[in-house]
Amino acid sequence: MSMDCVFCRIIHGKEPSAKVYEDELVVAFLDINPINPGHTLVVPKRHVEYFDQLSDDEAVRMAIVVRRLAKAIIKAVKAHGYNILSNNGVVAGQRIPHLHIHIIPRFKGDGYRFLCKGKPANLSELSKIASKIRDKIIQLNLIK
Ligand code: AMP
Ligand code: ZN
Repeated sequence: MSMDCVFCRIIHGKEPSAKVYEDELVVAFLDINPINPGHTLVVPKRHVEYFDQLSDDEAVRMAIVVRRLAKAIIKAVKAHGYNILSNNGVVAGQRIPHLHIHIIPRFKGDGYRFLCKGKPANLSELSKIASKIRDKIIQLNLIK
């Protein structure tokens, strides 16, 4: 735990929050600057910065909690849909360096756009990158 980290302080009860869920690995609380009502952050209890630093157990639990909470939140605030997103790294827009997954309820006509338009690529460019990624999966022994 890092006392400099606002999410660690929330997890350890040193900072107030509107908690919606807690188990031995994961906590979820409402975002203090909600994009829409019900905007929730799902956070691992262990202080890690990036999603790839989670253990498999933590990653699985995060995914299950996101799925279950999405159902509850959407029903609670009567949303029409939701975005699940996680900014990993300053360059990706991460402002709090303790991993968190946003669940953002969406309402018809709320006007938000989270997806940027990509640039078209051809299959040979894509194939080269796919091959580099497959090599790393083997080199780093990521799939057992
Ligand atoms: P990100 O840009 O993905 O790092 O988002 C960080 C989020 O944390 C922002 O949406 C903030 O509104 C939210 N946030 C910052 N401090 C708190 C806090 N004390 N309690 C709840 N949410 C917070
Ligand atoms: Zn932390």
